Amino acid sequence: MEHQNSQTERNRYWQGLHRRLPSNGVTSAWPTEDACRARLAEIRWPDGVQCPRCSSANIGVLEKRQTFYCNACRHHFTVQSGSLFHHSRVALQLWFSAAEIIIQDHVSGWHSAGPTGHDLKDKLGISYVAAHRLKRKIIAELLLPHGGIIGECILMPDDSGDWLDDQDLDELDQFLNSMR
Ligand SMILES: [Zn+2]
Repeated sequence: MEHQNSQTERNRYWQGLHRRLPSNGVTSAWPTEDACRARLAEIRWPDGVQCPRCSSANIGVLEKRQTFYCNACRHHFTVQSGSLFHHSRVALQLWFSAAEIIIQDHVSGWHSAGPTGHDLKDKLGISYVAAHRLKRKIIAELLLPHGGIIGECILMPDDSGDWLDDQDLDELDQFLNSMR
């Protein structure tokens, strides 16, 4: 019974995320890599770009290399720097699409555990190793409050305020541990 309840909670959680996906899909909402970068920037720095090293807002842009530089500490960085996407060779568009597929597949059947690494590999056209790594990172992120940075990027705002309480979080911790 206990088990059934936490399963129901999990289903409810994934359905909640699913309801908030953009209605025409993430590739319509953010059709290019530039659009994805702009979306990430808007989520990370709602009040304007900030240096991840010194928090200065005195920032310049090297357009061609999609690189920002800090006029205060001279640090160079990109919108991905210091985020989940740091050092990732996978394009943001693929991250966004993978997260969408993972959410969709979690609600596509009873007790669905989401797509396998092989499903993702086929749907995204990337290696199995990359797909598997992507899946683990994205699921861990989506289970964070507000769906983590990836959830904030691809999900529409939720006005119900129905985020997880402490008990839900404990259950999700157990769920995550059981996947490791
Ligand atoms: Zn700085």
